[in-house]
Amino acid sequence: FPDRRFVVVSNREPYEHKWSQEVGEMEVRRPAGGLTSALDPLLQALGGMWVAWGSGEADAAAVDSHHRVQVPPENPSYTLRRVWLTHHDIHRYYLGFSNQFLWPLCHLRPDLTRVRSRYWERYRRVNRRFADAVLEEVQGKDAAIWFQDYHLALAPLLVRARRPDLTLAHFWHIPFPPIDIFRLAPQAGYLLRGMLANDLMGFHLPIFADNFLRCAKRLAGAEVDWEARTATLDGHTCQVGAFPISIDIDQFRQAAQADGVEEQMQRIRQRYAPKGGAIGIGVDRMDYSKGLPEKFKALEFLWDRYPEYRERFTFIQVAVPSRSDIEAYDDLSQKVDNQVREINERFGTGDWRPIHLIKQSLPVDRLAILYRTADVCMISSLQDGMNLVAKEYVASQIDGNGVLLLSLFAGAAEEMTEATHINPYDPEGCALRIRDALTLPAELRKAGMRRQQEALTGIYDWMDDLFHAWGGAAAGSAAARPP
Ligand code: UDP
Repeated sequence: FPDRRFVVVSNREPYEHKWSQEVGEMEVRRPAGGLTSALDPLLQALGGMWVAWGSGEADAAAVDSHHRVQVPPENPSYTLRRVWLTHHDIHRYYLGFSNQFLWPLCHLRPDLTRVRSRYWERYRRVNRRFADAVLEEVQGKDAAIWFQDYHLALAPLLVRARRPDLTLAHFWHIPFPPIDIFRLAPQAGYLLRGMLANDLMGFHLPIFADNFLRCAKRLAGAEVDWEARTATLDGHTCQVGAFPISIDIDQFRQAAQADGVEEQMQRIRQRYAPKGGAIGIGVDRMDYSKGLPEKFKALEFLWDRYPEYRERFTFIQVAVPSRSDIEAYDDLSQKVDNQVREINERFGTGDWRPIHLIKQSLPVDRLAILYRTADVCMISSLQDGMNLVAKEYVASQIDGNGVLLLSLFAGAAEEMTEATHINPYDPEGCALRIRDALTLPAELRKAGMRRQQEALTGIYDWMDDLFHAWGGAAAGSAAARPP
């Protein structure tokens, strides 16, 4: 959209300001997360604006009187417009409706949802605040607005109602559940109407797009054209498509072969696997959708049934603390701690620990080294929109010896057909697959990894596909509108 202003809208911001140790000085941090690190280079290249929650402790001090700051600080190339959230907003819109209702519902865990009218009321109010910020920024201008994720399902309709001339797209980064689950949402119709106000609604997989179209028809009364994959409501047509997201492949390849990496790999082996043998890696947020207890059950079966792997196979699990204010997350974290302690007590010997649990967030360069070192990467998600870790592991496999064990229930499994697919609900089956991976001859491992690397597409392919579809959808809806 060369002559339009480009605006990205997301809950999470790409840069956070915090106070440094020096009194009165500020530092800028890039919060970890696939979404922000993927879109930031795009905004830097295109210019434009990013509207997001100002979540950093010094954010308010960094902006001008219009709540704007130019980023990145070292080379200002676009505007970050901050939206402010109060304590109640964070509790009810973010931790409440977004993360204790929409997240579990979309990950097929209606048993973990918490329905509260005050969550919904605040979700509407905060969506209105994001929409108002967007409207203010595009006053008198033509613009293409790109909403991100499940925090902002209502904002597109609120923008469309006041500015029907703008083109809007939305990418839903998590699964979209089947109608039998989505209809459990008391506000299903409102959420769908919010999303249908976009010209393009994007999901990772065709099945999520199908689920959405079915819900749009049955729960919002939209007219669905299954062939064209559109849903029309109140005279507005929304194109629905699948665009599997990916990673910046070069970033991981470069980090995995930077100077000094080989010595660091050596140190990792000495530290975690002092008896030698193979290393497995897992990298997940501490989230119930990631199947961590299921993964550790499978590992327990491995060391129980195949004692030859005691001291000969060591597992490193990075489990990044996440949403710990929510009870289900806190419970999970304790459960995982107990399980790891029991397994380590049962199978550990003098200076060998079977599982190393790293409960902190690591920077990309350290992750890339761990990925390169690991002989096996195990992803056991019970339900996952995509799972970028799977792609990062493949990109970082410079030596090409590794085996990826990938849950059937991660979106990535649809594309990564050469990975070894596992069913995390079957821990004995998973233990067997780990054993198969550890006994696979080197030439087969290398050939398998090579095929996976050749098939891996990058983040820019994702953007190309999505923007291409958006261009088509915007042209279509402009034509359908009266001049
Ligand atoms: N990640 C990170 N540091 C860590 C662990 C994970 O930066 O210590 C990143 C990881 O590289 C990946 C993202 O967090 O890009 C996790 O994305 P994924 O799609 O696997 O799961 P999500 O957390 O989005 O559900």
